Amino acid sequence: MDIVSVFKNFKIQEDSIRYLEAVRWNNEPKCLYCESTRATKVKDDEHYHCGACNKQYCVAVKTIFTKLICHLKSGF
Ligand SMILES: [Zn+2]
Repeated sequence: MDIVSVFKNFKIQEDSIRYLEAVRWNNEPKCLYCESTRATKVKDDEHYHCGACNKQYCVAVKTIFTKLICHLKSGF
């Protein structure tokens, strides 16, 4: 099984996001663009909306997981 197949597994994907949120943000979402902590969770449960700069972001942005988590999801 290759890495792409692994990350297409929904459970592993969810776990990866939770893990990244914990290690990167200490479970407190912080905007990747302006570093505001005024984050609102978006309904897909992986992205956050920033109340300061109005952008949406995913914990995996700017990490090696970006393509795997943020973009593969749309292929489901
Ligand atoms: Zn922001």
